[in-house]
Amino acid sequence: MGDKRKDYITWDEYFMGVALLSGMRSKDPNTQVGACIVSQDNKIMSMGYNGFPKGCDDDEFPWGRTGESNDTKYPFVTHAELNAILNYRGGSLEGAKIYVALFPCNECAKAIIQAGLKTVVYACDKYADTPATLASKRMFRAAGVELVPYHHTGRQIMLEV
Ligand SMILES: [Zn+2]
Repeated sequence: MGDKRKDYITWDEYFMGVALLSGMRSKDPNTQVGACIVSQDNKIMSMGYNGFPKGCDDDEFPWGRTGESNDTKYPFVTHAELNAILNYRGGSLEGAKIYVALFPCNECAKAIIQAGLKTVVYACDKYADTPATLASKRMFRAAGVELVPYHHTGRQIMLEV
């Protein structure tokens, strides 16, 4: 019997990889964010990326970031974390983990807490000093949600599709 292969990806690489892959579905020209929800026993439960709600045409709604509020994407876009939560139709997400490319905003933090998720693994926290992220962290701490910075391994994963 031969030995098993040794260069297989870790759970963390797998789930963060799926989150990043999901983000590649986003039509947003500036920010592509993905999220992957995982059960406590490492089964993928749901995925999401940032985009407009169902029926809101990607070619009709605005993707811009400046101008009158309703001429920008902000009132319309659903973030990856919320989409991942809403995409799950199988019951409860209580105790699950969520892998995200970017630290969740305060609106997603509320949804994550209320959905019963207990762990957030994030790849990037580049808006750490913004009010939205500070509010997120305050709520996560109060709710006892564990915040885990993703340990980047530097592994390059190539897929030919
Ligand atoms: Zn958000």
